Amino acid sequence: MPDVVRVVDAPAAPRRPREVPAPVETAGLPALAPNSLLAAIRRGLACRCPRCGSPGLFESFLQPVPHCRVCGQDWRTRSSDDVPPYLVILALGHVVAPGMIALETFFHPPLWVHLVIWLPVVVILGFLLIQPMKGAVMAVQWWHWDRGRDAGGDSSEPAQEDRSGTA
Ligand SMILES: [Zn+2]
Repeated sequence: MPDVVRVVDAPAAPRRPREVPAPVETAGLPALAPNSLLAAIRRGLACRCPRCGSPGLFESFLQPVPHCRVCGQDWRTRSSDDVPPYLVILALGHVVAPGMIALETFFHPPLWVHLVIWLPVVVILGFLLIQPMKGAVMAVQWWHWDRGRDAGGDSSEPAQEDRSGTA
């Protein structure tokens, strides 16, 4: 059940800049940071915060929350771009293509049978997989680029070399 009920006909409130919520007290919660990349990916696949495991990684279908409501992790810093759709296409291709080939090989159905079977399969599985896949990609990005900041280190990209020639 959603925690928030939206009123459709309510007048739009003036937009205010989003405020960064302070992390809430985490006492009593399980250990925050995952101990492996696989654990972080599992959290992302479950659409949970890869850092703390709390639910609610997305505020809409593919829009991540700006900040985790529990640990305060900033999710605006990275963009997964087209990687989740590529991974969904890759996964679906490995399911649908063998199925289509097997169906054609053993039953030789007319083309409309393929359309009736595989088009809904691709559309439904695509919608089911895209959000968990985006969560997993976000988890990988967090693990490789943002995790080190938790320990006070700087795991961002290597610093740009000074190419101005004024050294
Ligand atoms: Zn979190």
